Amino acid sequence: MVEVRPQTVAYTEPGKPIVTIEQMRRAGALALEKMKEEIHDLDTDNEPDAPPPAPKKQVAANAVRSVERLPRESEPPPTAQSISFSSQTAFTRLADGFDFPIGKGEARGYYKARGFRSHGHLGEDWDGVGGGDTDLGDPVYAIGDGVVVFARDCHQGWGNVIIIRHAYREGGSVRNVDSLYGHLQKILVHRGQTVKRDQLIAAIGNAHGLYDAHLHLEVRKNIAIGMSRNKFAQDASNYYDPSDFIAAHRHLQSSGASTRVAMNTFTHDAKIPWDKLRNYSHARTGGGSSESAYALKKALASQSAH
Ligand SMILES: [Zn+2]
Repeated sequence: MVEVRPQTVAYTEPGKPIVTIEQMRRAGALALEKMKEEIHDLDTDNEPDAPPPAPKKQVAANAVRSVERLPRESEPPPTAQSISFSSQTAFTRLADGFDFPIGKGEARGYYKARGFRSHGHLGEDWDGVGGGDTDLGDPVYAIGDGVVVFARDCHQGWGNVIIIRHAYREGGSVRNVDSLYGHLQKILVHRGQTVKRDQLIAAIGNAHGLYDAHLHLEVRKNIAIGMSRNKFAQDASNYYDPSDFIAAHRHLQSSGASTRVAMNTFTHDAKIPWDKLRNYSHARTGGGSSESAYALKKALASQSAH
């Protein structure tokens, strides 16, 4: 916690400046420190590519803290309008299968720099085999037919994000799944838009210079998560391993029929103060961790072997 020292503010002393330059400087530094702390608290759990969480990060503790900390001003009372908004739906064709979002649906020319891990990295990072930023601006495609339910700049660890809601038939019933595309350089679709399998939706980015360019991909079973991952169990009850999901659903039966999907299912996102989450300054972490360098080497070796 920031301690306000007595010398930070000088109240009275006629004839002298009320606050000296040195005091102003110190106050400014303290304010910056405090702001960083606050932003960090708000955002920590939402950074998709943050390093593996320290053991102290416990879900229960975070939940309590967020409830206390999230500002009251962003919680408007429910109104008739918001009620009808929450029941909004859109039509989408039942997905006839799912593809990888890069490399023409096959991830050709890309490698998985970081895989899915429960309670850790809840998606996959896809990088071009050229390494570094060679994939910056590369096309990103919808993994399947669906409706865009979210598309905006989330700042901080996320950058530009798109979430597409898919409906598909499996085991006699229609299921929903959300695919999330993060760190995008450009968003080429808008919320409410229907997209087709393999349709161009975005360009690979680096989250405003935070990482080496790569695509962060998530596939969620639970369509209530949105951008509030810390409110939900971070395991297989809510998430699929993206590659496993895609591989198991490449070809699905579809009559070409349409179905209705809900547009507003993100139960906790209304409390996120997006405009307070702008980047302030970031050390470039370089998505090129040793893990990713190893994966690249492996990918190149396997390519030359075949
Ligand atoms: Zn990631």
